[in-house]
Amino acid sequence: MKEYKVAMQENHVVSKVVCNCCGKEIPLVSDGVWEEYFHAEKSWGYFSKEDGRQDSFDLCQGCYEKIVESFKIKLN
Ligand SMILES: [Zn+2]
Repeated sequence: MKEYKVAMQENHVVSKVVCNCCGKEIPLVSDGVWEEYFHAEKSWGYFSKEDGRQDSFDLCQGCYEKIVESFKIKLN
């Protein structure tokens, strides 16, 4: 989940990235650069139950690893 601040010229600048799973803030490495995190976006299509919905979320590395570990079929 990203929080935005409105900068000059009305550009939307990300001010904070929060893990949707644990709620912790992703640490900034330097100005405008965050520690690596997982970002997903999905636009649900016509034949899904979520028709027309747009979902996106962010995960910190710890939560990403836990979720991936729970897969029956492991990542290579
Ligand atoms: Zn997390």
